Amino acid sequence: MLIYNTRTHKKQEFEPIEQGKVRMYVCGPTVYDQIPIGNARTFLSFDVSRRYLEHKGYEVIFAQNLTDVDDKIINRANEEGRSAAEVAEEYSDAFIEQMARLGVAEPTIRPRATQEIDAMLEMIESLIEQDSAYVVGGDVYFSVRSCHNYGTVSGRNVDDLRVGARVEENTDKHDPLDFALWKSAKPGEPSWKSPWGEGRPGWHTECCAMIHHYLGCPIDIHGGGADLVFPHHENESAQASCAWHEPLANYWMHAGMLTINEDKMSKSLGNFYTLKEVLDSYPAEALRLLALQTHYRSPLDFSFQRLEGMVGSLERLRGAVSNLRWAAEQTSEQSTDHDATLEQALEQAKSAFVASMDDDFNTAGALAEVFGLVSAANSYLDATGNSVNPELARAAAELVCELLAILGINLEQESSALPAELVELAALLTGYTGESADEAAQLLLDKRSDARASKDWSAADAIRDGITALGLVVEDTAAGPRLKSAE
Ligand SMILES: [Zn+2]
Repeated sequence: MLIYNTRTHKKQEFEPIEQGKVRMYVCGPTVYDQIPIGNARTFLSFDVSRRYLEHKGYEVIFAQNLTDVDDKIINRANEEGRSAAEVAEEYSDAFIEQMARLGVAEPTIRPRATQEIDAMLEMIESLIEQDSAYVVGGDVYFSVRSCHNYGTVSGRNVDDLRVGARVEENTDKHDPLDFALWKSAKPGEPSWKSPWGEGRPGWHTECCAMIHHYLGCPIDIHGGGADLVFPHHENESAQASCAWHEPLANYWMHAGMLTINEDKMSKSLGNFYTLKEVLDSYPAEALRLLALQTHYRSPLDFSFQRLEGMVGSLERLRGAVSNLRWAAEQTSEQSTDHDATLEQALEQAKSAFVASMDDDFNTAGALAEVFGLVSAANSYLDATGNSVNPELARAAAELVCELLAILGINLEQESSALPAELVELAALLTGYTGESADEAAQLLLDKRSDARASKDWSAADAIRDGITALGLVVEDTAAGPRLKSAE
């Protein structure tokens, strides 16, 4: 299995440190607002990487922090006249809620910066002792000069960086590249006790200390958005290298940025969307399908028009699965002349899906295989006139669901979009005693066919009227009649 490593600029065979185990860390959000969909793309990409590694049999320990102390949080708190802790709590909860809606699996460990100050203080003290950090007043800075391999994660040269660095005013840094490990508290700011006075940790400090504390260095995979490569990940790496003389991670993975109709997303351009806004109007599976049609390292172009298209694609996938299952139910055991073609399509989809995902999580290639399988299945239903080999039809439906589930797309969830009132209608008209809307629909359709066949028009009309009253229509599919919503 190949993973593109930002540090080496190439795809490398993935070899975990410990057999069968993957330790993975993805930088989490700063919790001061609902997250933009650009960030959601990053978290979704790593959710898929994690799911695929688990599918391959690895035990994945997945850690993701919440940056719950930061200038942005403090600014928002001041604007709204409440405490930084309140703002952080509100948006930590909001983030966790939106990730759940998006179907992103819970991390194994979710440390919060404000709860991990001890680990950070320990790391900073060690850096000071080793002359990799220095104290100025109540601030502590990391000395980039002291780190002989600074620049290796992002592939940058320290001398070039120094020429380009902005010289900040009112700073006592020894070098413009040095960055704050600990910041002295201004009045009214959240702060913690430290050997250098009241203060709070710098952003680069928290991830590094938490990785070391919870996972140990090096970890297998460190991920984040491409905008974190420099300086955030470079600075994290430098701290680990100087504090513990260990690399922070063996593989550095970065997700590409997101554009809106090929423009940069920004509040000033009026094209800024949060994940919550998108999920309030569209199913999470459609957003996931859209994101995964582009390789995670490439820029992803988002538009509501594309998202709309994905809603249609989802319907196509669901339709194929339910048609296959329906046809399988209608037929007694038999094989057909067309079985070999579909059997071949199943084998092809299985192996090519894995080959794509093994190639640096190529979800676009993997999805193309699923859609290829769906086309083959639809052709099979047409060619056989729904007189399918039931075992094969079921196997095709299961494979479509199984492959999509590896990518975190759950087709089953909404497979029964039929109203529960159908159960009552079927009880009344067919004597049904069960509780499944799908079964009820099937019984009603069977009864309608029987009534029509025996020219019992009043019985057929009663069923039709009952169905119509529930806002449903009968749709004639390749696999026979089905109920669907009338709109
Ligand atoms: Zn980080």
